[in-house]
Amino acid sequence: MSNYKLGLDYANEQDQKDPLAQYRNQFHIPKDKDGNDWLYFTGNSLGLQPKNTQKYIQQELDDWANFGVEGHFEAKNPWMPYHEFLTESMAKIVGAKPIEVVIMNTLTTNLHLLMVSFYQPTKTKYKIVIESDAFPSDRYAVQTQLEFHGFDANEGLIEWKPRPGEDLLRIEDLETILEEQGDEIALLLIGGVNYYTGQYLDLKKIAELGHAKNCMVGIDLAHGAGNITPELHHSGVDFAAWCTYKYLNSGPGSLGGLFVHEKHAYNKDLKRFAGWWSHNKSTRFNMRQPLDVMPGAEGWQLSNPPILSMAAIKASLDLFNSVGMEALRLKSEKLTGYFEFLIHELNNDQIQIITPSNPKERGCQLSIQVKNADKRLHQKLTEAHIITDWREPDVIRCAPVPFYNSFKDVYKMVEKLKFILNE
Ligand SMILES: *Cc1c(COP(=O)(O)O)cnc(C)c1O
Repeated sequence: MSNYKLGLDYANEQDQKDPLAQYRNQFHIPKDKDGNDWLYFTGNSLGLQPKNTQKYIQQELDDWANFGVEGHFEAKNPWMPYHEFLTESMAKIVGAKPIEVVIMNTLTTNLHLLMVSFYQPTKTKYKIVIESDAFPSDRYAVQTQLEFHGFDANEGLIEWKPRPGEDLLRIEDLETILEEQGDEIALLLIGGVNYYTGQYLDLKKIAELGHAKNCMVGIDLAHGAGNITPELHHSGVDFAAWCTYKYLNSGPGSLGGLFVHEKHAYNKDLKRFAGWWSHNKSTRFNMRQPLDVMPGAEGWQLSNPPILSMAAIKASLDLFNSVGMEALRLKSEKLTGYFEFLIHELNNDQIQIITPSNPKERGCQLSIQVKNADKRLHQKLTEAHIITDWREPDVIRCAPVPFYNSFKDVYKMVEKLKFILNE
């Protein structure tokens, strides 16, 4: 893949050859006031809206108008089993079996619910390992779980850190933590793709290391779902959770996804917080029944889900289903490799990519570290309608998304970057 070339002709040629190029037309691309498309590189933060989303939501609004409560059974897509219409495509995207996946709640809520089941500390085995650069919500979630169980949040939290002078995590260092303190560790909760550096960790290896010390292993896939192919079932991790508004394009604040490995699917002894949606669907409406928890991920549901948000997720997952993660990932590796190539060719020491250069250790995002944490570079990009995001202390995150970004987008972005850097 190192045969990338400079120049606009090359970018145009790649777009012409791109079997997924037409999918860009299936999304609303924000435009400037002259009608030119923005260069949108923040699908890792909020994915763009598929054009069919409106139709999917309208269907549910119409069915609600036409049927009222009867829509639970009479709607075109009956609301009662609506979440089931999402399960298979969602499971495919993260490499899971349908029994292992459900769409429900939001990410941080799901992390807490999963920790209710999979963080069962004892007096001596209670510590939690996270990445030192974990997303704040994940950090707050584990800190408050520790406190909830009566532990000191500082003492109970172990950070897996990059070595001094480095930006990325090394699996050997997790191994060392587990060798030295494994007997005290109850849970590893790790971001599968780090939100800051874009590093994609080896989930299978993490699961093996954790399980060798009898720790539960959970993965936050917020930056993984719809971006990389995590093969969750095969990885052996105990649980995972993610949101669907980033790479999965389901709209701001939309519901999250949850994975519980099949090995836990039939364990009714697991502690959990339940609601009526955890209960056996065949007797749910008999009411007045003792809790009969459903097997698999569905047994972690609490409430009947918000159908309008579900409809937006269905619109997006149907698109994913029609393309497949394999094709998306193939384009993604090419597109991000091209982006990396062009940035390297700038040969400018004001910026540096901290994301791993090995395509197997990253998704589509490149994190560009800016010398002296000079935020002006990001501001000027934004003024030019090149949408990236600035993450403190000194990184611009850019995610060329294979669904709707083109090689030409990347080319134009780097041309502008060059222009700004040379100003
Ligand atoms: C985006 C993101 C979140 C956001 O959590 P919500 O509960 O959906 O608000 C949490 N953790 C990580 C790692 C994220 O990337």
